[in-house]
Amino acid sequence: MRVRFAPSPTGHLHVGNARTALFNWLLARGQQGTFILRIEDTDLERSTRASEQAILEDLRWMGLQWDEGVEVGGAFGPYRQTERMQSYVDHTNRLLAEGKGYYCFCSAETLDAHRKAQLAAGLPPKYAGTCRNIPADEAKRRKDSGEAAVVRLRVPEGRNVTFHDVVRGEVTFHTDVIGDPVLVRSDGIPAYNFAVVIDDALMKVTHVIRGEDHISNTPRQILLYEAYGYHPPTFAHLSLVMGPDHAPLSKRHGATSVKEFRDKGYLPEALVNYLALIGWSPGQNEELLPADELARRFRLENVAHSAGVFDEDKLAWANRHYLKICEPDRLATLAEPHLRERKQIVGELSADARAWLVSVLPGMAQSVDRLPQLPDRLDAVFNYQAPNEPLDQMLVKALAEELAASPRLTDKDLFRAAANRVKDRTGLKGKNLFHPIRVILTGSHEGPELDLIVPAIDRAVGVSGLGPVIGCRERAAAVAGLP
Ligand code: GLU
Repeated sequence: MRVRFAPSPTGHLHVGNARTALFNWLLARGQQGTFILRIEDTDLERSTRASEQAILEDLRWMGLQWDEGVEVGGAFGPYRQTERMQSYVDHTNRLLAEGKGYYCFCSAETLDAHRKAQLAAGLPPKYAGTCRNIPADEAKRRKDSGEAAVVRLRVPEGRNVTFHDVVRGEVTFHTDVIGDPVLVRSDGIPAYNFAVVIDDALMKVTHVIRGEDHISNTPRQILLYEAYGYHPPTFAHLSLVMGPDHAPLSKRHGATSVKEFRDKGYLPEALVNYLALIGWSPGQNEELLPADELARRFRLENVAHSAGVFDEDKLAWANRHYLKICEPDRLATLAEPHLRERKQIVGELSADARAWLVSVLPGMAQSVDRLPQLPDRLDAVFNYQAPNEPLDQMLVKALAEELAASPRLTDKDLFRAAANRVKDRTGLKGKNLFHPIRVILTGSHEGPELDLIVPAIDRAVGVSGLGPVIGCRERAAAVAGLP
């Protein structure tokens, strides 16, 4: 089995295309197949190397490593269409020599006038076939004399093109609705429908899995396979990913690209897992599974025909799961830029600052949806405002004195021991004890569990590389008005 993802490098990787890439990858990984990455950069005005790089980076970030393709190479390269021009020229010549393709000299104005006339007559626009019957030697002469010409495929008249789509079942198009498609533009650049067939055939692609926006291209492509005597691959057209209003997911719905979701603090495994659930289910009432297990269970036949709706809340749910089980060292690395943005980390990350991250983040990650919420949870560490409200003065004094006399509360047990001593001195307990302690030590009525936030504060005191932190002892002293 050989599958490919064939992005056009004209922008960011849209999550819908990322899902297409993922389904190809899942199939290849699950069936010991080969996953190919080909860059379709024949739209010279819109394709950029920067976009190509960004797409590659997004795929790598998602863990969708390709076996063959740009940068990694392979036996069927090159894998960038602009570097494959010779094979398109050879295939064009072959088609012309066999009379299966022909030169078309119609000007843009002529084509446009035809199109308008057809639309006005209520007909679907289709190439009128004006140049179909120009004798080949005459056409060649005109072309050689410098007249601008495209190359079109001679579509056989009066028959059906039928294929079995793995997702959609049997699909049939009648050739009478298919105008002879342009294969090569007048500047020699191959059209998508042409290049894609030559490449898929030469790269021995066995399964073409792509968005359903390409389904009407498929009969044209099948006719090309026939024209060359190449065996067509199996096709599977995936439903598009929709926004909550069932319109194709676009900018007006918010984030649409992999990069945007990455910047919003979603983990790659969460995005991968969630995208796999759009229009497919791993079964056994299980949804949260690692990519290799998804691949093991993936069956193209079980992909839903109906459109999938992108639900960011469900992505957040998956992300919560992966944040909870994220390995502490990795969590520290992932969270660092987000803490830096909030000035919780300043300057170079010292070993002590890193150790602090590793010790406090896993606890905080138990209750957040996305990485940027980690600095929110840590706000009380770095931003302390002494409370400005009436508090039980006996408790304030007891807490301040106990903290002055004890070591910093760098773990849960030290905090509990101090709280117990305050309890013994004041007789307060439960909420009446812990709520005012929270207010005094964090300056706030709410926040992470005290068992987490108190050690996070006291462990951060004086750590180089972290923003300045006032310790619990100093906080309590300030509230008590002690020096
Ligand atoms: N370059 C095309 C796209 O990005 C590829 C379509 C296909 O997979 O055939 O839409």
